[in-house]
Parts: sequence; structure tokens; C-alpha cells
Amino acid sequence: MAEPDAIPDTRCPRCGGEFHCGANDAAPCACTAVRLEATVLAALREGYAGCLCLVCLRELAIDPAAATRAALPRTSPGCD
Ligand SMILES: [Zn+2]
Repeated sequence: MAEPDAIPDTRCPRCGGEFHCGANDAAPCACTAVRLEATVLAALREGYAGCLCLVCLRELAIDPAAATRAALPRTSPGCD
């Protein structure tokens, strides 16, 4: 059995992958361990309504330029 806090209940707006966001948990979210540049955080707030999964956050921590690339509008025919 998986840990309760490991149950995916959110979908990452960037990659579409399911993950669990700990923003509303008692314990600090795992994303607090990922340090992102201020410019990356600003780009994410501009481009996405919700939280991103840890995979994406780690990717952006390594490659900050990916944030602005990913924030560009793009159509996703499969969504909604
Ligand atoms: Zn993601």
C-alpha cells in the first residue's frame, strides 16, 4: 500500500502527470525542497494556475530557461 500522502490527487499542468501536492498538508510540501530562481517562479505563476509536479520542478531547477519555454501558449487538443 502506498503512503496516504503519495496518492496522486492533482494533475501537473505542465507535463500532465498525476502527483500529490502537499501544499495543504500538515507537513511541508516536497516542493519546498526544490529551490527555483525567482524568474522561474514568476514564469510559473504566469503560465500555470496550480502546482507543478516534482519532476517538472526539478527539471526547472536544473534548466531555468525551460520555464519560459514551457510558459508559451500551446494547444492541447486532448484536454477539456
Ligand atoms: Zn510535471
